Amino acid sequence: MYLGERRPEISTVVENYLQAVYKLQERGERVFLSRLADAVHVSAATVVGMLKRLAAQGLVQVTESKEITLTRRGTEIAESVVRRHRLAERMLVELLGIAWHRAHEEAHRFEHAISPHVEEKLAQVLGYPATCPFGNPIPGYGGQVSPPDTRPLSEATGGEEGTIERVPEEDQQLLEFFEANNLKPGVAVHVKEVAPYKGTVTLSIGGQDVVLGTQVAAAILVRAPGAKSN
Ligand SMILES: [Zn+2]
Repeated sequence: MYLGERRPEISTVVENYLQAVYKLQERGERVFLSRLADAVHVSAATVVGMLKRLAAQGLVQVTESKEITLTRRGTEIAESVVRRHRLAERMLVELLGIAWHRAHEEAHRFEHAISPHVEEKLAQVLGYPATCPFGNPIPGYGGQVSPPDTRPLSEATGGEEGTIERVPEEDQQLLEFFEANNLKPGVAVHVKEVAPYKGTVTLSIGGQDVVLGTQVAAAILVRAPGAKSN
């Protein structure tokens, strides 16, 4: 078996569930029924039925405390689909010139259709990138879930310099805002003010002030100056 081998019996729906659990865990969340139902946009009752099937297939486990975890095989499949998704995003932006803010949505259509053969070729053409265009690690290519020397922007202090490492990718309007303000991975920023009492973080990017809500800032990772990139 090589990296990203596709198992023909794995359906798109199963891949989506496993991917959802994996991505919540990647953010450091413990996964429970209601959170997973939110993530896959279905009712809790539907998720219960699906979890039974996934458990019977040896892909997930539900612990005594009702936490949902992936088995080793479930993790392998989740990593494979996440890798295809993030490679597809790179392909869309770098090879096809699709707007950065559209890549995440568009990649959902590609992730299930990429065969192991195409995946390997794509990875090769793209140079085995460690991260997706939003800074998330591509499983198997050396990216890290919690890169050293990084922290959430909400935990930065005023006056600090840094480089954007990762931005949240789910909200397309927010991505458009990031793109309009050049708030993207690899961009140098100056943190002007972190004001929890106002609920804002103010950055200077290329001489322009950008004000973010604390919640958005908490989902952005910044790298300290001088630290090596992921
Ligand atoms: Zn994505």
